[in-house]
Amino acid sequence: MEVRHHFDLTGYNTFGIQATAEYFAEFSDVEALKELVAYSHDKNLMILGGGSNILITHDISGYVLHNRMVGISVVDETENHVYVCAEAGTVWHDLVKHCVNKGWGGIENLSLIPGTVGAAPIQNIGAYGAELKDSFFELEALHLSDLQIHRFDAKDCLLGYRDSIFKRAYKGKYVILNVTLRLAKNPVPNTSYHSLQKELAALRLLSITIKDVSETVIRIRRSKLPDPKQIGNAGSFFKNPVIEKDKFLFLLKGFPKMPHFDMGDKVKIPAAWLIEQLGFKGYRQGDAGCHVDQPLVLVNYGNATGQQILNLSESIIRKVKQSFDIALEREVNVV
Ligand SMILES: Cc1cc2nc3c(=O)[nH]c(=O)nc-3n(C[C@H](O)[C@H](O)[C@H](O)COP(=O)(O)OP(=O)(O)OC[C@H]3O[C@@H](n4cnc5c(N)ncnc54)[C@H](O)[C@@H]3O)c2cc1C
Repeated sequence: MEVRHHFDLTGYNTFGIQATAEYFAEFSDVEALKELVAYSHDKNLMILGGGSNILITHDISGYVLHNRMVGISVVDETENHVYVCAEAGTVWHDLVKHCVNKGWGGIENLSLIPGTVGAAPIQNIGAYGAELKDSFFELEALHLSDLQIHRFDAKDCLLGYRDSIFKRAYKGKYVILNVTLRLAKNPVPNTSYHSLQKELAALRLLSITIKDVSETVIRIRRSKLPDPKQIGNAGSFFKNPVIEKDKFLFLLKGFPKMPHFDMGDKVKIPAAWLIEQLGFKGYRQGDAGCHVDQPLVLVNYGNATGQQILNLSESIIRKVKQSFDIALEREVNVV
């Protein structure tokens, strides 16, 4: 067990924020993790995956434990489904590639989402018409207080729109160790998402496979989203707000072009549209900015501090509230 002091985290968060961890260690099995948890005693403890959904606003006191538990295995099989268990430190996209290559369907729409398997349930990752929830079966997590391993099924996890029990009541209380997915052996590709459907239609394929879906999602993502290797970011910084229908109908009078998605008695509004209306698209304050093409993505142009990016996000939240009376919520975890 190697514990390092004052460890530089710049390369360990996709925003590329310069900050240090008072103590930093890696674990590649449960026993090592338990040892580190016991060793860290009463100090702060933060679990780090790929660092693609965090904004570090100050040097971190206590322990940062980097998850290196990797592996993928089939744990059960029925006539129509395969149950695939991946260790929490496995790169999410490696799991997607593995399953797509085997012909197991369910997570192909989630291709190329950065980060690790263990972080995927925390915000119930989603993209292109699919969510982790659609394929999730169960997970195992280590309780940080009693060091017991607990099992959570989909119901226990309260997986919602970029949300789960691990962002709420169990925030900071568990380390997710592994995730089991239930995948289809004879998958029917999910092409419900408009831009995906359009791209696939342009290919004029006789039949669409999950591999086509995965490759198309990868192409769209590469063309649309800024690559953190080129410019620091953590993907969408805010969630798309979901508001009451009455409120939406009222807003529509003042903003007749407001885009929206019906969700029964509620309506989802694209946060990117709200932010763009307020002139933040391409806005830059020092090295902290709003991406020129994707206003939902806040970026670090080089030497921004986490606090500067947080301040920019607060200005955006304030302006959106003033102009639309809508409360934007951050998707990224501020630490
Ligand atoms: C370019 C880009 C595009 C993105 N696109 C999408 C997208 O389309 N859809 C989407 O949903 N997300 C997207 N994201 C966000 C991000 O990729 C996901 O949220 C991902 O699941 C984060 O994984 P990570 O391993 O990097 O987590 P980290 O950033 O390392 O951690 C995130 C949080 O989870 C906690 N955590 C991490 N691992 C564990 C564990 N094993 N047990 C307990 N807690 C843990 C951390 O303490 C932290 O609070 C994008 C990010 C980027 C940079």
